[in-house]
Amino acid sequence: MRIGIPRALLYYHYYPLWLTFWQQLGLQVKSSPPTNKEILNQGVSAAVAEACLPVKVFYGHALHLAPQAEFLFVPRLVSAEPGTYICPKLMGLPDMLRHAGKKLPPVISPTLNARCGPRAWELAFIRTAAVLGFGARQAERAWKVAVAEQARYTAKLGEGKTPLDVSEGAEDDDRSSRKALLVLSHPYNLFDDFVSLGLIRRLRARGYRVITAEMLPGRVIAEEAARLPKALFWSLGRLILGAGGYYLRSGGVVGIIHVVSFGCGPDSLVGELLERQARRFGKLPFLLLTLDEHTGDGGMVTRLEAFLDMVEWRGAS
Ligand code: SF4
Repeated sequence: MRIGIPRALLYYHYYPLWLTFWQQLGLQVKSSPPTNKEILNQGVSAAVAEACLPVKVFYGHALHLAPQAEFLFVPRLVSAEPGTYICPKLMGLPDMLRHAGKKLPPVISPTLNARCGPRAWELAFIRTAAVLGFGARQAERAWKVAVAEQARYTAKLGEGKTPLDVSEGAEDDDRSSRKALLVLSHPYNLFDDFVSLGLIRRLRARGYRVITAEMLPGRVIAEEAARLPKALFWSLGRLILGAGGYYLRSGGVVGIIHVVSFGCGPDSLVGELLERQARRFGKLPFLLLTLDEHTGDGGMVTRLEAFLDMVEWRGAS
């Protein structure tokens, strides 16, 4: 059996877990290639106009994979950690895809809801494997190996690598004395080189070390998130605000860039809270970049150059 995993949305967070689980059960796993113009166009024409850019990109990847896989793996992500939720669009993703009116292979969509107990994700995977004919023991063993692989991946991100660095086996050259910029966004915006218009590459080429929220320990994020006047229950939003709050308070970076998707409800709230924090601390240059399917290189480069000039001018003064 060949199972397809679209290279989009939380692929950038959980791919090692998903890949290893299915491979341990002996399935062939096929993922779509990095996003390109054709994939984006396919997604834009298949998705409803109101969808955010990452969801449109996801549709493109699913359609690209469709002829090459017997199943598509599209989990219904409800909650990744107790007390939090993922964005509603990710919860409804399998249904949106099934009703997109396109010819797709069957969609396998376990419900992953950490609010249902500490073993909720594991049990969801085991149940899904049972539907495909695998025994519980076999699935439990596959789960353990997959969790260990995911932990190794998370540790590498903690060492300062991006998912792309990890997949390319890049050396850790980013721990030098170069000035650091904090770049905050959802992983599927930031680590998709096509969607982010090569933002990380461009910053590194200008000589900056790029820090992302994924590089901070979960403990630090939780402590910072606890300082918010009201608990934020979106886990990706907590990650962004936690990392932003930490660096605004402690310094250690020369500026902050927040990348948001046009049409993203959670981003509009998180972006506003982050900007307020940045104004309150008032120490660091802050840039908000909004991405949609029409965003072109030119506009982004102009804004980025202006921002970096300001960062450098402040550093020199
Ligand atoms: S959090 Fe925002 S960008 Fe991500 S899927 Fe939800 S609406 Fe789209």
